[in-house]
Amino acid sequence: MRDADITVRVSATADPAAVRSARMGLLLRSLRDGGPRSRGRLAEETGLTRTVAAGLVDELAELGLVSCEDAGRRGAGRPGVRVRLVGRSVCGVGAEINVDHLAVVALDLAGSVIAEFRLGIDGRSLPPEGVLAELTGLVADALAEARTAGAAVAGITVGVAGLVDTATQRVTLAPNLGWREIDVVEDVRRRLADVVVAVPPVRVANEATLAATAELDPADADRADMVVLYGEVGLGGAVVSGGRVAPGRHGWAGEIGHLPVDPRGRLCGCGRTGCWETVVGLRALLEAATDPDDPIRDPALNLEERLATLVERARLADGRTLAALDEVGTWLGTGAAVLVNTLNPGTVVLGGYFATLGEWLRPAVEARLAADVLAPRAGGTRVAISAFGPTAAVRGGALVSLEPVLSDPTALADLPELHGGTR
Ligand SMILES: [Zn+2]
Repeated sequence: MRDADITVRVSATADPAAVRSARMGLLLRSLRDGGPRSRGRLAEETGLTRTVAAGLVDELAELGLVSCEDAGRRGAGRPGVRVRLVGRSVCGVGAEINVDHLAVVALDLAGSVIAEFRLGIDGRSLPPEGVLAELTGLVADALAEARTAGAAVAGITVGVAGLVDTATQRVTLAPNLGWREIDVVEDVRRRLADVVVAVPPVRVANEATLAATAELDPADADRADMVVLYGEVGLGGAVVSGGRVAPGRHGWAGEIGHLPVDPRGRLCGCGRTGCWETVVGLRALLEAATDPDDPIRDPALNLEERLATLVERARLADGRTLAALDEVGTWLGTGAAVLVNTLNPGTVVLGGYFATLGEWLRPAVEARLAADVLAPRAGGTRVAISAFGPTAAVRGGALVSLEPVLSDPTALADLPELHGGTR
C-alpha cells in the first residue's frame, strides 16, 4: 500500500488508537522500503510532525521492531537519532503448491530468510491430501526454525497454481493439479494443529498473484503498471495496476495461461485446445528441448537442478535447447503483445522459470513486442527478468503474511509466543 493511501485512511478515521497503529505501520513500511535514516527525515518523508514521529518510534522500539542510535551532533543542535528496522522478532511464512514442486519460505520483517525448503513432487499422481500432508510437513519445519530464531509467526499464506476464490478462501479449480473445490486453509490448519501449540492464521491465494506482490517496487514507477508472467509447468499471471495487484471480481483475474493462442494447437490441462501455456509452460519447453527419457523430465528432481541443466546446455550452445528456447520466447512474446496492446504496462516481468532462462527468452519476447504492439516503441514497455525467479511466489506469500503486522504493529504484542512452538 502506498504511503498516500494510508494517510488518507488515517485522516478519515476518528479512533485515536487506529490512527496511532496506522501511523506506526507507515513508519515501518517506510523503513522497510527505504532503509535506515534519521528520525527527522523519517518524519518528513511520512508527513508526520517530529514530535509525533519520535513518540511512535519509541513505541516501535519497545515492541522490538526498530532500533535507534545516536547519529552524532549536527552543528550546534541536538544529536540526531538514526532509526533502523529490526526484523528478527517476527516473520511471515509463504508456501507454494505447484504441479512439480512444493516450496516454503519464512521471511522476517526486513525481508531476510529465516527458513527455506523445497521439495520435488508429482502433483498429478498424488491426491490433494497427500500433497497437503507433504506441504504441511515443510511448513512445520519452517515454524520450528522460526521458533529457534526467536521469531513470532504472523501468518502462513499458501499459493496454489489455480483459481482461488478470495471470498470463500477455497481453491475453485487447479487444472494442472486436477483439483476442484479444495479447502486448503482448513486442511493445513487441521494438520498443523497436530504439531504446533498455536496455529498462526492461514490464508490461500493464487501463486502468480503472490509472485506479483514480491515483484512490486514502490521506488520504480515502471512497476506501478505491470504484467507478471510466471512460468511454471503451466503459466500463471497477474496484472498490477496503480501499484496494486488487480484481483478481479472473485480473485480470478490473471489466468493468462488459458488465453487461446493456437486454435489448432495442443490439448491443455484445462480441457481446451491451444491455450498459451501449452506452448510456453515448462512442460512445453521440456518436450521441445528433450527426449522423453531425458532425466530432467523427472518431476521428482529438484526444479532448480532441472533448470540448471537447461542453462548449462544453453550456455554450451546446444542446438536443440536454443531452438526450443527461441520457440518458447517467440510464443511468449506473441501472447505478451496481446497484453501490452490491452494494458500498456510499464514493465512485463519474466518470472518463475522464465527468469532462470531469461537471457535466452528475452530477445525473442522483445522482437515480438516490437513487431506486434501498435503503440510506438512497443508502448514503451520494458521487459524485465525477475530477480526472484521461481521463488517469487513463496516470497510474496511471506510478505502477505506480514501485512497485518505492518497494518497494525501493536497487534504484535498479541501474537502468542508459542506460535512457532512444536508439540
Ligand atoms: Zn487451458
